[in-house]
Amino acid sequence: MAEIVLMRNFSHPDSHTLNAYRANGGYAAWDKAREMEPAAITEAVKKANLRGLGGAGFPTGMKWSFIPKTHTGPVYLVVNADEGEPGTFKDRYLLERDPHALIEGMLIAARAIRCTLGFVYIRGEYVQPWRRFSAAVQEAYDAGLLGRGFDVIVHRGAGAYICGEETGLLSSLEGKKGWPKIKPPFPAIKGAFGQPTIVNNVETLCCVPPIITRGAEWFAGLGTKTQGGTRMYSVSGRVKKPAVYEASVSITLRRLIETAGGVSGTGRLKAVVPGGGSAAILTADEIDVAMDVDGLKAAGSMIGSAGVVVMDESVSIPEALMVLARFYAHESCGQCTPCRESTGWIYKMVHRIVDGRGHKEDLDTILDVAKRGAGTTICAFYDGAVGPYISYIEKFRSEFEALIPHA
Ligand code: SF4
Repeated sequence: MAEIVLMRNFSHPDSHTLNAYRANGGYAAWDKAREMEPAAITEAVKKANLRGLGGAGFPTGMKWSFIPKTHTGPVYLVVNADEGEPGTFKDRYLLERDPHALIEGMLIAARAIRCTLGFVYIRGEYVQPWRRFSAAVQEAYDAGLLGRGFDVIVHRGAGAYICGEETGLLSSLEGKKGWPKIKPPFPAIKGAFGQPTIVNNVETLCCVPPIITRGAEWFAGLGTKTQGGTRMYSVSGRVKKPAVYEASVSITLRRLIETAGGVSGTGRLKAVVPGGGSAAILTADEIDVAMDVDGLKAAGSMIGSAGVVVMDESVSIPEALMVLARFYAHESCGQCTPCRESTGWIYKMVHRIVDGRGHKEDLDTILDVAKRGAGTTICAFYDGAVGPYISYIEKFRSEFEALIPHA
């Protein structure tokens, strides 16, 4: 197994407290970073090959360097803790068990981008993570770590999946309806309150302190050529030991399933969702793939938020798609016609098929509708929905056909 970096403090019973964090070397990275030039911090993160761990996998250091050099007004750091991707539950553990790692990562990132105010947007349903994180923020203020050039505001979301999309999140943070906006302009140019803003995921920022203390080369060496480090995989579904596991980004999907105790239920694998609900499904023959951004892209899927959902042979793929389609239909914000209309319509069609009332031509019609809408919407939500629609039907077509009378 890979070195444990992100979950290194989890075994301590009081790991969420400042005392425990400091006892394990916490805030040493901040002590070091505060003596570094901002550009040197960004350079270290670039060299470490750290990529965003919330979904898109964009190189973190490069994102930081997009803040306009000539900008003289405020710059904001926004932490996306609106973890809502189906099958994903790892940021919750970091907020609950190691909140100071995030605060330290924020302090360092803020220095790199010359920012004095950060926001943490926490999923509304995450009550305990919000409580733990808020208590840690208070501890950091009491200890003088915050409030001396950098402040943090904790904001709770109201339960919309789309607010995990960065422009939707920023609209919500500004007190508006959480509707995504067309990019460009990207938030690094025009983000929260019209100012340059860096939006980073919780886990991404928790990687920053170890990069500063142990070095960019060490971190880069933990992963693959194009992505450094380890990451946390939420493994659920039909595995013997569902949990969050930390492993190198180079681990294969097969090895990860073995680490989670192997397939439960019938013991025979049918399919795996490798990167949260929006990732295209993989068959049992496609799991010898590295779990980094590029590895899964080459396999026709995506690592996304690293939410791994395992399905054994007893799982009905049409029913699994129906559940997912209902989720997308419910969560579409409704701004774009293809997304608003197609998600609801596709859910009804899949539901009809599962009910045994499908028509022979339904599958091709669903595929046609899904593919036509892809790439035409304001945000990536619809493309994220299309991946499952297409892959579930194309890879398991006979299962759908078996439910359609006279197919
Ligand atoms: Fe809203 Fe869907 Fe359009 Fe995104 S793609 S802005 S979720 S309607």
